[in-house]
Amino acid sequence: MRAQTPDQAYDGRSPFPGADRHITAGPGQVALTAMIALVPFIALGAGIWLAWGTGITLTDVLLATVFYAVTGLGVTVGFHRLFTHRSFTARPWLRIALAIAGSMSFQGNLIDWVAVHRRHHAFTDRPGDPHSPHRYGTHLGGQLRGLAHAHLGWLFNGQPTSAAHYAPDLLRNDPAMLRISRAFPALCAASLILPFAAGWAISGSLYGALTAFIWAGPVRIALLQHVTWSVNSLCHTIGDRPHPTRLHDRSTNLWPLALLSFGESWHNGHHSQPSRARHGDPGQIDPSAALIRLFERLRWATHVRWHTPGHLQHHRTVAGKHTLHSQHAVPRSGIAHAATRTDPAPGSG
Ligand SMILES: [Zn+2]
Ligand SMILES: [Zn+2]
Repeated sequence: MRAQTPDQAYDGRSPFPGADRHITAGPGQVALTAMIALVPFIALGAGIWLAWGTGITLTDVLLATVFYAVTGLGVTVGFHRLFTHRSFTARPWLRIALAIAGSMSFQGNLIDWVAVHRRHHAFTDRPGDPHSPHRYGTHLGGQLRGLAHAHLGWLFNGQPTSAAHYAPDLLRNDPAMLRISRAFPALCAASLILPFAAGWAISGSLYGALTAFIWAGPVRIALLQHVTWSVNSLCHTIGDRPHPTRLHDRSTNLWPLALLSFGESWHNGHHSQPSRARHGDPGQIDPSAALIRLFERLRWATHVRWHTPGHLQHHRTVAGKHTLHSQHAVPRSGIAHAATRTDPAPGSG
């Protein structure tokens, strides 16, 4: 009799085999990750202190909004829907622009981001998923610990996802994307310098440059990071599950995050049809899909996957509400495996 692999042995409720075995990243990566997670809160405190009594200026609000939108859509339209799932084809200059914009969000370099996310789809909420909130089991204590892991803790993991395995299309065949990935530290620096420079140019003062830097720099970066991380944590734990997904996949739709996440919080819709350019259903706000539609009208984007095979017949065959510590929305064995056939296979893009 053949032995079961850890994945085959997983029952959908217990902690993942070896969940408590952690390989922590090296001290350099741990320090850098901790700094990226903590410094924005110091910046937020400084921003509030400086704005006390006078309020935040309109310039700072607009700059923070513009930088949030450009870098956020770089992640959602670029890193996620274009590079990870190939939901559309973009003109070469647009690929470069989206890759640069996404890189300025401090969420890791493009190729590693894509590799981690493809691995998440390949092993969603089962052993092998780099950031599942169900890693420590589905009892309340395990779920709370899992939420912390899926939100931030997984970034301290010292076992990198193989880009050669999960993103060979970008690593080996896309020199422009390789260059942009290698330029990640410089693009992070630009993401901080540009708000400072814009604030200085608009206000004409060093004080204006400083407040613009705080709000459109670290505070904006942190807000987008926590929204993205919430898709990993909350959008696999609480919310609605109107769409069928693969076995063990607990992705949810969480409407309060739809606008801030540019449509990414329709995460159950996304996991049901990963390569579809639109994650929300008709009537659900999805700014990333709207931008892809605009690109298509301008003929900057082609071959947009607005529908993928199998979508309609599988639509709403599994419904339910998923709450913390609830078991009833977990898809049963055998339901709707076909729904993810169009997802790019790991290693093939
Ligand atoms: Zn997910
Ligand atoms: Zn995805």
